[in-house]
Amino acid sequence: MNILSLIFDQGCLLCGHDDNFSEKYGLCRHCASPLLFHEEKGERCRVCGRPLISEDSICMRCRNEKYGFNTNHCFWDYEGTAKTVIGLYKFKGQRRIGRFLALVVYRYLRKNVLDDVLLVPAPCSPARLKKTGFNHMEAVCRALKGMHRIPFADVLRRRRGRQLKKLNREERRQELGDKLYMKPRDACEFRIQAQGKHVVLIDDVFTTGSTASACAGILKQNGAESVDIITFAID
Ligand SMILES: [Zn+2]
Ligand SMILES: [Zn+2]
Repeated sequence: MNILSLIFDQGCLLCGHDDNFSEKYGLCRHCASPLLFHEEKGERCRVCGRPLISEDSICMRCRNEKYGFNTNHCFWDYEGTAKTVIGLYKFKGQRRIGRFLALVVYRYLRKNVLDDVLLVPAPCSPARLKKTGFNHMEAVCRALKGMHRIPFADVLRRRRGRQLKKLNREERRQELGDKLYMKPRDACEFRIQAQGKHVVLIDDVFTTGSTASACAGILKQNGAESVDIITFAID
């Protein structure tokens, strides 16, 4: 690794190579391109985005589940480089990666002509907020607004609570209902902002979909007509 790249925070976080792309996005062009030009192989569930095995258009999990959102638009599987890059951002606070993630979202929105979008960042847990000092999905939305004027509404909040990982499906649903909320003033503003907009919740990793679903439910209670999800990776 190039020592200057460490000092000046310029080089690629994966290979150390320094080009104008890595200065801005934290990854050099070479390391970024498999993530930018990723093509889905095989058929995917049109609700959650998981690979279909022998099912037709909707996976077994989604057939048995009622979500608060319509579709999860997902870019990568949560493994290999995608997992490393998300980890560098989420756990190591490498903020340049946030700009890279914003670029990925922008390219997707443009390609799929998702017009009149109002982005909503998934809320950060109080513990993570304390640890890293910023809401990583809010920072991605902020970058999208700065670079491409895509509006966002940072309105969802999360209280402290039990770790979801340890709970079963029903406990999870209940816990999320208690934990996620919108402040009354944010709710008033959101109702106005969401009018005529395509509301899209943005989160890092899609696992069971229960958090995304609970967030979508709150957004709909507060005026969103329907909610789609964008996640960077599916686990
Ligand atoms: Zn690289
Ligand atoms: Zn599915």
